[in-house]
Amino acid sequence: MLKASESFRDIRDAVRDLCAQYPAAYFREIDRERSYPEAFVDALTRAGWLAALIPQEYGGSGLGLTEASVILEEINRCGGNSGACHGQMYNMGTLLRHGSDAQKQAYLPRIASGELRLQSMAVTEPSTGTDTTRIKTVAVKQGDRYVVNGQKVWISRVQHSDLMILLARTTPLAEVSRKSEGMSIFIVDLRQAIGQGMTVQPIPNMVNHETNELFFDNLEIPVENLIGEEGKGFRYILDGLNAERALIAAECIGDGYWFIDKVSSYVKERVVFDRPIGQNQGVQFPIAEAYIEVEAASLMRYEACRLFDAHQPCGAQANMAKYLAAKASWEAANACLQFHGGFGFACDYDVERKFRETRLYQVAPISTNLILSYVAEHVLGLPRSF
Ligand SMILES: Cc1cc2nc3c(=O)[nH]c(=O)nc-3n(C[C@H](O)[C@H](O)[C@H](O)COP(=O)(O)OP(=O)(O)OC[C@H]3O[C@@H](n4cnc5c(N)ncnc54)[C@H](O)[C@@H]3O)c2cc1C
Repeated sequence: MLKASESFRDIRDAVRDLCAQYPAAYFREIDRERSYPEAFVDALTRAGWLAALIPQEYGGSGLGLTEASVILEEINRCGGNSGACHGQMYNMGTLLRHGSDAQKQAYLPRIASGELRLQSMAVTEPSTGTDTTRIKTVAVKQGDRYVVNGQKVWISRVQHSDLMILLARTTPLAEVSRKSEGMSIFIVDLRQAIGQGMTVQPIPNMVNHETNELFFDNLEIPVENLIGEEGKGFRYILDGLNAERALIAAECIGDGYWFIDKVSSYVKERVVFDRPIGQNQGVQFPIAEAYIEVEAASLMRYEACRLFDAHQPCGAQANMAKYLAAKASWEAANACLQFHGGFGFACDYDVERKFRETRLYQVAPISTNLILSYVAEHVLGLPRSF
């Protein structure tokens, strides 16, 4: 039987070759310095991998979500962290699906070539959290500009992006018939915005994931930077979430395989009580269990991607893939750390770094509870809870 991890051999081999130039030691050093893997992201962009989902007419490779997921899976499986650049893959989809022809012509070829980076999307706010429809950042139309005031939190990769998609309220909540209406999305040119109405405050955090607080004080955005129709921004953001869920699932799957490979090698070599620790079933079973769960998550990821690529509804599968994969990679991380004993805590083994990195995915970009809530309400038809 072909293992889920062995399909798409050409893509896997090519991404692995590239990643071999940026081994675990490279990412360890980047993590230690809390810096950005600039050389790695450049190499990925030059090789065309980050433009996988951009159609060929705009200079991308026009691949499907399935292939894109395999690319991110392999990066994480090789010991790297796609979190530094995954936004480039899925943020672009919002522009592709809802942008005007002029916007697509202006941005997509330059994103595909690497001249521009669209790494950031600003949705979350400090006082509203997951309850996105209550966001307080407003964009008020004044002539040929929108004037933006408000605040965002946890907005990633702003210092390593040229463009950002911003969600803001354009009609007050009290004036819309449905709370999901009255929000709009904009392309913000960060090179012009930072220091001229927009301030960026980095948030030191547990992982080397560059993320920030943003403050908007009369930031002016030209009206031509509105994406799609005014008031429909929340729906446009939701449209992009299935792709994001499936891609994040793939990263977790890559992490899961990394942990399982790492711990499997270690427990075969480490001898305690005159035998390899991997001979003990108490050691074998958690590793086997994690492997089973990663494989199952991988199959759900392929199903979500297959439906997405066939333009079929895939919300349930994309959410379930993200849930299963984040849980499986966390189980694998725990087993890997546990059976490395004290060495699991040593930075040189990379286990503690990957352990921190994969933990994020139970919280962001969507928390596990919110996926359970989605499945309960939208798949099982249980009463709406919020
Ligand atoms: C490193 C990092 C990078 C990020 N990057 C970005 C980014 O680039 N752009 C962006 O817009 N956002 C980003 N985020 C934000 C991320 O999407 C949110 O942190 C996440 O969605 C959770 O929102 P919150 O932190 O406000 O938690 P809250 O909404 O305050 O929730 C806290 C906890 O309560 C639980 N909870 C809340 N409501 C319910 C409920 N009704 N039922 C059950 N449980 C509930 C949640 O599951 C969660 O565990 C990032 C976050 C991190 C940590």
